[in-house]
Amino acid sequence: MIKCKILLLLSMLLTSFFTVAGEAHVHGVGTLQLALDDSLLHLNLSSPLDSLLGFEHLPRTEKQKAAVRHMADQLRQAERLFQPTLAARCTLKTYSLESPVLETGKHKGHDQKGHDHEGDNHEGHDHTDLNAEFVFYCAKPNELRDLEINLFSYFPGLLRLKTEAATPRGQSAAILTPSKRRITW
Ligand SMILES: [Zn+2]
Repeated sequence: MIKCKILLLLSMLLTSFFTVAGEAHVHGVGTLQLALDDSLLHLNLSSPLDSLLGFEHLPRTEKQKAAVRHMADQLRQAERLFQPTLAARCTLKTYSLESPVLETGKHKGHDQKGHDHEGDNHEGHDHTDLNAEFVFYCAKPNELRDLEINLFSYFPGLLRLKTEAATPRGQSAAILTPSKRRITW
């Protein structure tokens, strides 16, 4: 029964993830989906590259390549960026980062699906996102009831983060900002 409920939650979350991911690409606005599956806390982050990096084309200069490395280094330190309820004792288990700028030589910065170009005036500019998944293992998942998100401190170009959480305890949605960094459920 519990397993069924979790599967249902996950499928609802996936549905909403694709809804959110299909929204317009707006600079400064990212999305974060949170799902708790037994002891595993899944976080899916999606953001315009501009908000994390300041540009969205493939890095050309040494300075731009260094900026890409710096961004990836910051994101890898997910335990600084995301702080689940301390009592739940969560530790980072795996992560993955996905973006054309991280795969130099493979892509040519082509456009991705789900971008709304209506009304934008970047002539000849292809918008590009960064997608990341972080999985935390929580020793006491029943204690998990909130998540503090510190992305704003490390990425000042990020102004808003639309978050949705699906856990056995309940679901919630919130728009986080530099002055409101915690989602609870
Ligand atoms: Zn863009």
